[in-house]
Amino acid sequence: MNSEELFSEARKLLPGGVSSPVRAIKPYPFYVKSAQSSRIVDIDGNEYVDYCMGYGPLILGHAHPAIKMAVIGQLDKGWLYGTPIEQEVALAKEITRYYKSVDMVRFVSTGTEATMSAMRIARGFTGKNKIVKIEGGFHGAHDAVLVKAGSGVATMGMPGSSGIPPEFTKHTLQVPFNDREAMSNVIDSFKEDIAAVIMEPVMGNVGPILPEDGYLKEVRALTKEHDILLIFDEIITGFRLAMGGAQEYYNVTPDITTLGKILGGGFPIGAVGGRREIMECVSPAGKVYQAGTFNGNPVSLTAGLATIEVLRSENVHGKLNDAGNSLRIQLRDIVADKGLDYTVAGIGSMFKVFFVGNVRNYQDALKCDKDGYEQFFHRMHKDGVFLPPSQFETNFLSYAHTQEDIKRTIDAYEVNLS
Ligand SMILES: *Cc1c(COP(=O)(O)O)cnc(C)c1O
Repeated sequence: MNSEELFSEARKLLPGGVSSPVRAIKPYPFYVKSAQSSRIVDIDGNEYVDYCMGYGPLILGHAHPAIKMAVIGQLDKGWLYGTPIEQEVALAKEITRYYKSVDMVRFVSTGTEATMSAMRIARGFTGKNKIVKIEGGFHGAHDAVLVKAGSGVATMGMPGSSGIPPEFTKHTLQVPFNDREAMSNVIDSFKEDIAAVIMEPVMGNVGPILPEDGYLKEVRALTKEHDILLIFDEIITGFRLAMGGAQEYYNVTPDITTLGKILGGGFPIGAVGGRREIMECVSPAGKVYQAGTFNGNPVSLTAGLATIEVLRSENVHGKLNDAGNSLRIQLRDIVADKGLDYTVAGIGSMFKVFFVGNVRNYQDALKCDKDGYEQFFHRMHKDGVFLPPSQFETNFLSYAHTQEDIKRTIDAYEVNLS
């Protein structure tokens, strides 16, 4: 079967034909045969330079040999024990070494569970109920955060999701990103009952949107002043912007940090960490319940440790962030030459061309020319460059992308951007 035939079968068996919404590329997605380094090959015989990179985890590219060997080594010894293993101590040590905000961690299986647990921990620790989130901020697909969330929710133009009783989201408050006054106002109005502010320090699920100068520090000061915990959701930025994530990059220390994606080297993982006094609330040390069959599973921990070792020993962030800067400069030149009112956004290895000028929050991003982006996506796809299909997903440059890949990509933007 080819991709078109497979998708028509899939539509009878899987809602929308896919296992996660953004994968439903029109008219049909390509089915992957294999992937290696920066390239992904479909079953129809096409090869693409991949900037989706599994939506973020694959900072070293596909099938990195060091990760593969480490995982094979683990598989020989079994892959699930239901008992503690050495790697969870080792990976927790790595996290606490690079994230000053983290003394202790709980490993879970997905980012969704990490943010869900972070919010429960914040509520358990403070005894308060409300959570402030950023409009368009995406923290996974659990009830309390599916309110004006990014990623697939933004793409589908849904205000949230059906199936969530309003009572479940009544404790979720929203403010626009980069708006100090809105943050200050919401805190003033509800400070008695706000457990935490949760935010992506660099927004990643409406495309990359950077915090303006001083914004994160101001949010930190405001939350501290009112005994509100600050949760940085670093599931994209953690181990991507720097070993210590956005909190190292911007030198702002949250109370709780969530990690995922890169942390598992491409295998499912999530982690929530924070100061000792906060984390000691988590069961069995404390009264905030959290548990999981696949928590701290040997394969994901092993892959994560192998990834961190390569990131460290090869100074990956320095090289990758330079490559990202150079790529963005070239894209800006193309946009300027063509006289387009588009925004080339990003930081480090995250980038995106927004089909609208000047994006500083979710409402701005929503003004982009979505149809224009979709047509552009298809032209790039035809030219062998796989970008995430949605205007609201970040593109990821990996350590495996070569100069030649980047040149080919720039040429494709030059031809196809309009
Ligand atoms: C991907 C992502 C999540 C959800 O992680 P999953 O592993 O998909 O559950 C949460 N927060 C942010 C910032 C993310 O990018």
